[in-house]
Amino acid sequence: MAAKEKAFWLDTVDIPAPTPREFPQGVDVAVIGAGFTGLSASRTLARSGAKVAVFDSQTVGWGASSRNGGMVLTGLKLPAATLIARYGKEATARMYAASLESIDLVEKLVREENIACDFSRTGHLEIACKPRHFDDFRRSAEIIARYFGHQQRLIPKDQLQSEVGSAIYHGGLVDDASAGLNPARFVAGLARAGEGAGAAIFERSHVDEIQREGAQGWKIATARGTLRAKNVLVATSGYTSRVTPALQKKIIPIGSYIIVTEILPEKLAAELSPRNRMIYDSKNYLYYYRLTPDRRMLFGGRAAFFPETSSTIRLSAEILRRGMLTVYPQLREAKIEYVWGGTLDFAFDIMPHAGQLDGLHFSLGYAGHGVGMSTYLGDKIAQSILSGRDENPFAAISFPGAPLNLYNGRPWFLPAAGLWYKLLDWLT
Ligand SMILES: Cc1cc2nc3c(=O)[nH]c(=O)nc-3n(C[C@H](O)[C@H](O)[C@H](O)COP(=O)(O)OP(=O)(O)OC[C@H]3O[C@@H](n4cnc5c(N)ncnc54)[C@H](O)[C@@H]3O)c2cc1C
Repeated sequence: MAAKEKAFWLDTVDIPAPTPREFPQGVDVAVIGAGFTGLSASRTLARSGAKVAVFDSQTVGWGASSRNGGMVLTGLKLPAATLIARYGKEATARMYAASLESIDLVEKLVREENIACDFSRTGHLEIACKPRHFDDFRRSAEIIARYFGHQQRLIPKDQLQSEVGSAIYHGGLVDDASAGLNPARFVAGLARAGEGAGAAIFERSHVDEIQREGAQGWKIATARGTLRAKNVLVATSGYTSRVTPALQKKIIPIGSYIIVTEILPEKLAAELSPRNRMIYDSKNYLYYYRLTPDRRMLFGGRAAFFPETSSTIRLSAEILRRGMLTVYPQLREAKIEYVWGGTLDFAFDIMPHAGQLDGLHFSLGYAGHGVGMSTYLGDKIAQSILSGRDENPFAAISFPGAPLNLYNGRPWFLPAAGLWYKLLDWLT
């Protein structure tokens, strides 16, 4: 039987359609995008009494939020040393602390809102593809302990079998604070929580145009009708489009793909991932993998750089299966039952950005590290809309566009970038 072209998680939950509501004439905040960012923000706003409407072109969680690996990770995409060199120790410490707080926030939401999404502090394992990457892990763990007071554990090559049933790696770095969850169930729970607090969610309501109207507000044209909003939050991640051209020019959409096997025998699953960690390797063109709660292997990677289409998904499935077998030859007979892709949002500096641009609030640029961070920054941006003060640690950093302004939202350079990263993986 051919693999289903569908996110595995969506077969574990029916994300309920939002309660039908009358289309509003005016709101305090219009949120564009019903993923983790937009829904987390809408919950916080509605709980404070703001009138909120969330619009999605498709359905709740349709974007990356229901299609990801469900890894809720400490840290940012860039290594700590790079961040300190760029932003200094204090600013980096605040950003790192935000990554830890983001996991606490997810845990708190799961508990407070009773979201049955298999949240579990399994910890993550970063795994070295080359001996020198293990040396980098040692330096990174030292920096993180010294400057951010957070402990991680090095696992030398000869002890790695206790963490992963693969012989190809050169050591690992464990962080027990990271967690795993079922993202489709989490996004469904966030939508329910937002609605429960009073937010209105409108599916199949593409936002076509946002226009300034006087000093105080905005006129927003959607597929369902037009409304006025005092504030707008853009939470469109890798699906940011010409509707917000200034933001589109700052975000590169990059495809990421996942395959999921059939349910594995208990003994084999325990051999592949004895501690059930969220695992990712040290390459630029990285693999990330984990067991699902029902004991399948979920294996993802940036097999093609382009955003997902049916053909990039099929092609990526073959590339990923070959990759999975180099890590785990034990899976040679395992059937692939699911394959899908989604779009990541990379800023040119590979950092999350949350603040205001031309009066529009936004939170974007999670670079594949967004389950916790988008939930956290959605909440923070909502607080800043309510209080008028941008206090998240990413609001203060500059949000660069392309060098020489050579990008209009069409990522013409992705094939070259893909080759460049493959070359880097070979050389470094
Ligand atoms: C395959 C894959 C694996 C990943 N794995 C992980 C992981 O394991 N751990 C991790 O931390 N991160 C991971 N990520 C990243 C993480 O999923 C994202 O950072 C996060 O979900 C972003 O949430 P969001 O709400 O900002 O955006 P999204 O969930 O992408 O939502 C954006 C929404 O905006 C809507 N939209 C766009 N334009 C408009 C418009 N004009 N009008 C109305 N609606 C609009 C879209 O329909 C979409 O639903 C992964 C991403 C992918 C694609």
